Amino acid sequence: MLIVKKFGGSSVADKERIFNVAKRCIEEYQKGNDVVVVLSAMGKTTDHLIEMAKDINPNPPKRELDMLLATGEQTSVALMSMAMSAMGVPSVSLNAFQVVMHTSSAYGNARFKKIDTKRIRHELESRKIVIITGFQGVNKYDDVTTLGRGGSDTTAVALAAALHADACEIYTDVEGVYTADPRIVPNARKLKEITYDEMLELATLGAKVLHNRSVEMAKKYGVQLVVRSSLNNAEGTIVKEETDVESMLISGVAVDKNAARIAVIGVEDIPGIAFKIFDLLAKHNINVDVILQSIGREGTKDISFTVARDDLQEAVTILEENKNRITAKEIKFDDTVAKVSIVGAGMQSNPGVASQMFEALYNVGINIRMIATSEIRITVLINEEDVEKAMRAVHDKFMEE
Ligand code: ASP
Ligand code: MG
Repeated sequence: MLIVKKFGGSSVADKERIFNVAKRCIEEYQKGNDVVVVLSAMGKTTDHLIEMAKDINPNPPKRELDMLLATGEQTSVALMSMAMSAMGVPSVSLNAFQVVMHTSSAYGNARFKKIDTKRIRHELESRKIVIITGFQGVNKYDDVTTLGRGGSDTTAVALAAALHADACEIYTDVEGVYTADPRIVPNARKLKEITYDEMLELATLGAKVLHNRSVEMAKKYGVQLVVRSSLNNAEGTIVKEETDVESMLISGVAVDKNAARIAVIGVEDIPGIAFKIFDLLAKHNINVDVILQSIGREGTKDISFTVARDDLQEAVTILEENKNRITAKEIKFDDTVAKVSIVGAGMQSNPGVASQMFEALYNVGINIRMIATSEIRITVLINEEDVEKAMRAVHDKFMEE
């Protein structure tokens, strides 16, 4: 069997953890399997590298930032190979250049295009454990690129797809995917299984356990994932197309505090205004989520929507600059909001899920400011200060029954 194992930053944070990972990989190897290991940077290394960069230049050139950040993963893979060598097992570390892992040219947000598997195959054939840098690639200019924070998961899935691996295991510091963040909701439960679609919604909505693009790619190439702990042998959570267990109504509650609300007030109630507003934002690569348009009155209306808090400043500036073009009287914003979402494949065939969620919020006196839904999720926008109360109330409503 060929197995891809990915370990996150906390799993390789220090010497002891590095040896722990080395041992787990060696056990797999000694069963006769081919083992490809993908590593993140140690502990908080990536955060520290970003701080170093910003200290030198608050606005570092993106190419140079990628050049810097990619060193974090290179450190982990080299040290891991040294650990395995100390344990008497043949291994080799490879960076994205050596593989080669080709990506698009977008520094800081690159996407995989093609992965050459020849070098990896060759190393596996000579019975080495192959240890590969997560989070990075090479673009058409032969520059180093990175995939965005948390991107090592995507490296693992991309490799599993390219190598037609028999398993892709994502090791982390929690035991799997939970129905909610256990730090906020103490009675959150670990899920046995979850579908790609549910996981994608949860990952996009703020659950940090998997990089959302890794889930997208796993779905596209049919790579079944297991999320489990690097520190014990507990069974993890399986992420796949369809779950076997009768699908629960709700598989998770997610929160996203990186949200801000913008209201474009008093625009003309004529065709083309929404197009102009969202086209402007799209051209600046600003993602918009929940959208609400008021009913027209006296020829005008208001259009409100949410953006990531990091994008708020830029979005407001763009809208202010184009106030006349979009016929707005005023641009208002609020960055003290948060999104709480419930996700579950079961809601497609069960009416009343939305009302149950709203009831749970009503029972604890929380006001809903905006609502958005898809087939398998319901999102409400609430005041940030209410988030923890909202999560517990909603989680209890669906999980306690
Ligand atoms: N080291 C990178 C980060 O901290 C990538 C990863 O951990 O997946 O975002
Ligand atoms: Mg991660």
